[in-house]
Amino acid sequence: MLEAKHVATALAHTGRDLSGTGAPLLQQYIAKMGVMFDRDILIVDRHGVVMADTNGAAVGSTYTNPDIEMTMLDGTARVFIGPDPSEPRATSKQVVVPLQDNPSEHGSPTVGAIVLEYSGLYDALMQEAKRSSYVTGFVAAVMVLLGCTVAIRTTRSIVWPLEELQTAVTAIAAENYGRRVNLQTKNELGRLGTAFNKMAEDLGRGRAALIDHVADLAQANVLLEDGMKRQKEDADRIQYLAYHDNLTSLPNRAMFGVALSQSLNYGKRYEGRFAVFFIDLDRFKQVNDTLGHEAGDLLLKEVALRLRQTLRASDTVARLGGDEFVVLMPDLKDDTHAETVARKILGAISRPFSVPGQELRVTCSVGISRFPNDGTDEQTLMKNADIAMYQAKESGKNGSAFYSAERNVNSFERLALESSLRRAVERDELLLHYQPKKDFHSGETAGMEVLLRWQHPDLGMVAPTQFIPVAEETGLIVPIGKWVLRTACRQTMAWKTAGLDGLVVAVNLSPRQFSDENFLEDVLAILSETGMDPRLLELEITESMIMHDVERGRVLLHTLKDMGIRIAIDDFGTGYSSLATLKQFPIDTLKIDRSFIRDLETDAEDRGLTEAIISMAKTLRLHLVAEGVETVGQSDFLRTRGCDELQGFLFSKPVPAAEFESFVKIRRTMLGHTISALALQNA
Ligand code: C2E
Ligand code: MG
Ligand code: MG
Repeated sequence: MLEAKHVATALAHTGRDLSGTGAPLLQQYIAKMGVMFDRDILIVDRHGVVMADTNGAAVGSTYTNPDIEMTMLDGTARVFIGPDPSEPRATSKQVVVPLQDNPSEHGSPTVGAIVLEYSGLYDALMQEAKRSSYVTGFVAAVMVLLGCTVAIRTTRSIVWPLEELQTAVTAIAAENYGRRVNLQTKNELGRLGTAFNKMAEDLGRGRAALIDHVADLAQANVLLEDGMKRQKEDADRIQYLAYHDNLTSLPNRAMFGVALSQSLNYGKRYEGRFAVFFIDLDRFKQVNDTLGHEAGDLLLKEVALRLRQTLRASDTVARLGGDEFVVLMPDLKDDTHAETVARKILGAISRPFSVPGQELRVTCSVGISRFPNDGTDEQTLMKNADIAMYQAKESGKNGSAFYSAERNVNSFERLALESSLRRAVERDELLLHYQPKKDFHSGETAGMEVLLRWQHPDLGMVAPTQFIPVAEETGLIVPIGKWVLRTACRQTMAWKTAGLDGLVVAVNLSPRQFSDENFLEDVLAILSETGMDPRLLELEITESMIMHDVERGRVLLHTLKDMGIRIAIDDFGTGYSSLATLKQFPIDTLKIDRSFIRDLETDAEDRGLTEAIISMAKTLRLHLVAEGVETVGQSDFLRTRGCDELQGFLFSKPVPAAEFESFVKIRRTMLGHTISALALQNA
């Protein structure tokens, strides 16, 4: 539009100048200009009369409109859309510029106007503008692209690597040591990346080593703690076992000793009184023998429980072993107090027990000793409570008794012996010695007699003559005798297997054993249990044993004989039976009592008696053994009179099993050498 205005203004200048020169010239000029600019141009006077136009067709006509009239009035050029001067039906964009009388003079009157059609020009200009806007757009796009490329390059070369590095550092900080950067750039950042990767690798390796190390340490720690824990548990367990009874979990003898010595210290210091109760079940052995050890154990456990429930927490209840329990009652007020406690104990035990399969009734006997009256040291208090317990048993069982100093000393000793003998079997204090017997004819060891020994923890080796009568009286000899027979058979069979064959083992029987109703059954059971060859077993009985009940004795001996067992009459000569009486019994051997042998060399009467016994035995075809042979003279006498075997210190004392074994082996070897030497001499 501006351009159209300039063209129109230029024309206005020229047109004004030309208007003076006359209309034809003006018309000519406008026509040329029209051709030159390819536009419709027309000049009107103040009244809108066309003075000249591009093709001259409109000259003289009136061409006006409000915009032209306004330009005439205000002398200001303006554009408008109006009818095409050369083509009135069409409209076009046009510009009207005033023609001033004196253009150089401001406010000079408007004498006419030039109207210039500029649609073409406008279109051309618009096209040009469009074209240039395309160019600008393209340039801008190129610039943007360029900018982007630069930005991307910058991003790629600096920002991304930095971001990558930052992410990687964060990962490493979060202990992801496997994180690496791949910066794909060779600048400083690239080198930084390589250094970073190296650092991450080192860190990772270090960390892995540290973790391994920590794991090793942790494992070592666990092992150490485990070990310490186990050690503590073991120590606790050992401590527990050392002071508790395995079966009932009650404190044991050792722990009771500790409690007792504490009470003694306290009692002595503060003049206090306390009581020790010794509890023993009546006929517990019977339970064990008839119902078996499992039932016995169950009963003991239940007894322990009842005692614990019956007594106060301040009382110490302990199991000494077997069926013996002890209670320490501190702070004894008077004897009635102790009696009450004893009654409670008796009541608790006498209630029926149920062991699998049946209801069981047992009773107990309770002995009580008091500090300080009945003893002022551990041993005395325990021993006296034990003695009191036997006093209670003797008074009919299922009762209690205080220790009584009035009882005579012998009785105490016997009672003490009896109580400790009861424990001897359980505590493995009994053992067997074997005394070899020499065959006079061959010179070989014919067999051995089994002799019972008691290795007492305090008294040392107790002689059978001391304790067997007590065992006999109390009936303890029955289980002890079974043990002896079983052990002897087992040992003989072991020796037989080891090559020491042909040895006949002689086992002593006691009257009580012999009269026991289960005797035969027990012997049979032991034979089958040990696999013992009955022909190698000789049972030693005394005359009085068979004379006590002749009929029973005969039946028993015949039964034993039928089983293949040999029968010997021990200590022969001390009784009152005649050989004629003995004849009715199936006897194999006669053992001349050592009282006849002892004085053989000096006492003519004994010599005569011995000779008589030997000759009678020969007539009855009995095997003859002389006991207690200590001298060569005795031996010679017996051998020359036809005695079959010798037993005595001259040949060997009773010895432990191992010694017996080597004794027999050495003798057999020696004898073998002698026989070969003699054979060589005779040859
Ligand atoms: P016994 O059956 O007459 O046993 C022989 C006793 O004489 C043994 O005494 C033995 O050591 C001893 N003796 C053997 N040779 C000589 C000797 O040369 N000189 C002397 N002075 N003594 C000799 P021990 O072992 O003291 O046994 C004594 C008694 O105890 C036995 O007499 C026997 O009646 C009994 N006895 C031993 N063991 C048992 C057993 O297991 N059960 C039974 N019921 N009684 C047994
Ligand atoms: Mg004997
Ligand atoms: Mg004898």
